[in-house]
Amino acid sequence: MPGTAADPIQDPADAAKEAAAPARDKAGEAKGKAARSGTSSAAARLAKLGLRRPVDLVLHLPMRYEDETTLAPIADAIRRAGLGQPAQVEGEVISNEVTFRPRRQLVVKIADDSGELTLRFLNFYGSQTKQMAEGVWLRVRGEVRGGFFGAEMVHPTVRPVVPGEALPDRLTPVYPSTAGIAQAYLRKAIGGALSRTPMPETLPQAVLQGPLARLHLRPLADCLRLLHAPPPQESEAALADRSHPAWQRIKFDELLAQQISLRRAHAARREKTAPTMPRREGGLLTRFLAALPFRLTGAQERVVAEIAADMTRPHPMHRLLQGDVGSGKTIVAALAACQAIDAGYQAALMAPTEILAEQHYRKLSAWLEPLGVPVVWLAGSLKAREKREAAARVESGEAQLVIGTHALIQDAVRFARLGLSVVDEQHRFGVAQRLALRGKAGASDVPAPDTVPHQLMMSATPIPRTLAMTYYADLDVSVIDELPPGRTPIVTRLVNDARRDEVIARVHHAAAEGRQVYWVCPLIEESEALQLQTAVETYETLVAALPDLRVGLVHGRLPPAEKASVMDDFSANRMQVLVATTVIEVGVDVPNASLMVIEHAERFGLAQLHQLRGRVGRGSAESVCLLMYQAPLSPTARERLATMRETTDGFEIARRDLEIRGPGEFLGARQSGEAMLRFADLQTDAWLVEYAQEAAELMLARFPEAVEAHLSRWLGGREHYLKA
Ligand code: ADP
Ligand code: MG
Repeated sequence: MPGTAADPIQDPADAAKEAAAPARDKAGEAKGKAARSGTSSAAARLAKLGLRRPVDLVLHLPMRYEDETTLAPIADAIRRAGLGQPAQVEGEVISNEVTFRPRRQLVVKIADDSGELTLRFLNFYGSQTKQMAEGVWLRVRGEVRGGFFGAEMVHPTVRPVVPGEALPDRLTPVYPSTAGIAQAYLRKAIGGALSRTPMPETLPQAVLQGPLARLHLRPLADCLRLLHAPPPQESEAALADRSHPAWQRIKFDELLAQQISLRRAHAARREKTAPTMPRREGGLLTRFLAALPFRLTGAQERVVAEIAADMTRPHPMHRLLQGDVGSGKTIVAALAACQAIDAGYQAALMAPTEILAEQHYRKLSAWLEPLGVPVVWLAGSLKAREKREAAARVESGEAQLVIGTHALIQDAVRFARLGLSVVDEQHRFGVAQRLALRGKAGASDVPAPDTVPHQLMMSATPIPRTLAMTYYADLDVSVIDELPPGRTPIVTRLVNDARRDEVIARVHHAAAEGRQVYWVCPLIEESEALQLQTAVETYETLVAALPDLRVGLVHGRLPPAEKASVMDDFSANRMQVLVATTVIEVGVDVPNASLMVIEHAERFGLAQLHQLRGRVGRGSAESVCLLMYQAPLSPTARERLATMRETTDGFEIARRDLEIRGPGEFLGARQSGEAMLRFADLQTDAWLVEYAQEAAELMLARFPEAVEAHLSRWLGGREHYLKA
């Protein structure tokens, strides 16, 4: 369970406050400012946890439980000390003193028939001293440790009771919280909300008995009551790993809310208008296809047709194009741009790095300028005057195709009539940036404020189907599942770092055969400066070891002009070896390069390794990828490298990556649909998603009121996440 650190029960200061709480009302001294500001800001504090409505409290479910339903004799609790298990005991206070060594602390001793136990409090209120006066009978819960002076509990939870007072018959919930909200307070607030808030069924019987019959869902209200206060005989394991039927009901309802709102976002998009761009025979598109030096693969033809069909419709396209590295996505984007330009609109292509954007610029302007299409380049590195000129050509509409980096979405850039925005390597951008580009629809020719450009997002990180369905709000997906012909598969080898000389010999050999080589320097996450230093050192070593070759260096700190000139030399085969940091990770395309060396491959993630390896194997020569590693390898690093050796299939790699890392980390930047899920886990609960989809469709079609009730219960205003 993540976030144990935030678990306030573990926080001694908090536990001390909680223990003191019942006594505070009587004790005059503690009734000052602290107590008053505590209650007045309670609503605000709950709001911080997202708990605004009673139903939010009811849906705030425990992250774990404490078993206070049994008592242990003190001697037994001491015997089990150090096992990390909390114990609950009762006893009479036999001594109570404040000592000052080594620091001020309250030391209380209690005893029952079986033995004695010391309770130690480092933070305490005066009222607590009184609450635990000699002769008082205390119920105490905490972890027994073997302290210096014998067995003790530090900051246990304590409560004065009358001997024989009944024990709770339910497990005690521990709720996710933040500092400043005590568990006792949350329990009371949630318990109150639970008893006051009826939770009527939102799922119509026709849905429960129909498509969901096989799930045997229990009534939601019962599940909530059970989860907030389970009887001790419920399976603790099933409650803890959330496989309990009550948890399944909760997760199902949550997924259902998500699926309904994804569908509604989709419908809302259908309400918006986008420019229609019919395919025109004899136009730019036809001429461009005729001029291409190769034929499209079957997969490319298919996705081009899907995209073209979207763009002929009067509603904005919102499509993700997935294709493994080297599958030929750029040409697909170029064809879409041609269709937009043919229809009299501008197209924009945004890429996450300047190297990649510039490469797109060169390639597309080489393809399209001969056909009479003005292409404009816009990046942060342009001089202010150049930037102004470029922006002016964009604003006047003279530029038909605009290519660049984040610079495209800056305020100063205004489009005359943007009809298509393409985002390459879209997973590198956040939701906000993608929205910004879409918001750039033309300033002058827009017929209605609701008109938005068509949007095409491209990614080489394949997303398994269930993830795509649940993480990406409202997205159509096209897949290129075929590589262009004539590629020879890349052979991947693992090489111990100690055999560097052999690797250098191979570099030499490849260059002697007229081939080119990438040498990727180790990723050093902690320090960019260190990473740079290593790159420079590697570069110098290779220059010295390969005197007859031209070796270049490219890294993130290089001024753009130098970067461009190095990349130029490498593209034109004036340079045989390119030493690089991960700046070449995405998209660089030099088909003559056939050897990829990655140093400290164990430090890279699978997706990154796959991207890097994809820089070779783009021509017809046999390509090799050498993954150098430093032993010993951690188990997950070993697994990653083995995966790389075994397969070059991006989808298979993504599947294993997901297995190794789990979905949250896998997708990196938070995706919009994910923000809605608190309880469902897309890995373990993926099987529920299809049921949720079916139920969502049925409810939207036949039970609009149930839809509203369900959404308001689960989302209550959080639907704005779905705009991206
Ligand atoms: P990615 O999908 O990784 O962005 P690119 O668009 O950079 O791939 O394409 C990789 C290489 O394959 C480029 O050199 C491109 O010109 C070439 N290519 C793309 N489509 C074809 C095709 N149908 N036949 C031959 N080569 C192609
Ligand atoms: Mg690409």
